[in-house]
Amino acid sequence: MSAIKKALSQLLVELPEKVTLVAVSKTKPATAIVEAYSYGQRDFGENKVQELVEKWETLPKDINWHMIGHLQRNKVKYIAPFVHLIHGIDSLRLLEEVNRQGAKIGRKIAVLLQVHIAEEETKFGLDTSELETIFSLLHTLNHVEVKGLMGMATFTSNQDQIRSEFNHLKKLFDSFQSSFSPPPILSMGMSGAYQIALEEGSTLIRIGSSLFGSR
Ligand SMILES: *Cc1c(COP(=O)(O)O)cnc(C)c1O
Repeated sequence: MSAIKKALSQLLVELPEKVTLVAVSKTKPATAIVEAYSYGQRDFGENKVQELVEKWETLPKDINWHMIGHLQRNKVKYIAPFVHLIHGIDSLRLLEEVNRQGAKIGRKIAVLLQVHIAEEETKFGLDTSELETIFSLLHTLNHVEVKGLMGMATFTSNQDQIRSEFNHLKKLFDSFQSSFSPPPILSMGMSGAYQIALEEGSTLIRIGSSLFGSR
């Protein structure tokens, strides 16, 4: 059995029903995506706009493309027509630009708000007061659909710390539950700590290296 097939089937048996697996294919060739696709995988994640657009152009059109990386406002227009879910909305200005591009093409674009849960300053994300501001303005943004939250834990081997950061995000997710378009999505967990994320209530995990090998 191929490495991808083995890794994918092992992940899928661990996955609770209703949890989505996004296969993070950044830096990996189209052949790796086609292989996972042939086993039924349909959700793929990329973190660079140009790479995402190139892969979307050449690969099967029923793939759900997730933009999981930091997104610059001037690049939203390139992915607006096809992106399935933008995970990294980390400012009101970015959300407004997504809304503007959605309006231009008559599409309601699904997004997640990225929350800063890590200790590291380097990671992107909103704090609670910024989240509240966004929710208070959501009724003015008719071409975005906020489906939930996304977060990245600190890069550490301290499992307790990772768990408490995921737990914090889950509590925020629950407290804003009524503001999300159904079904609500909580995107947390990567190869290193997806089991903890699942235990803490993740509904979507983003798995790269455990599936496609190290980058
Ligand atoms: C690269 C990346 C992942 C996948 O990371 P792995 O450790 O390879 O599973 C998940 N989420 C984001 C935002 C990423 O940039």
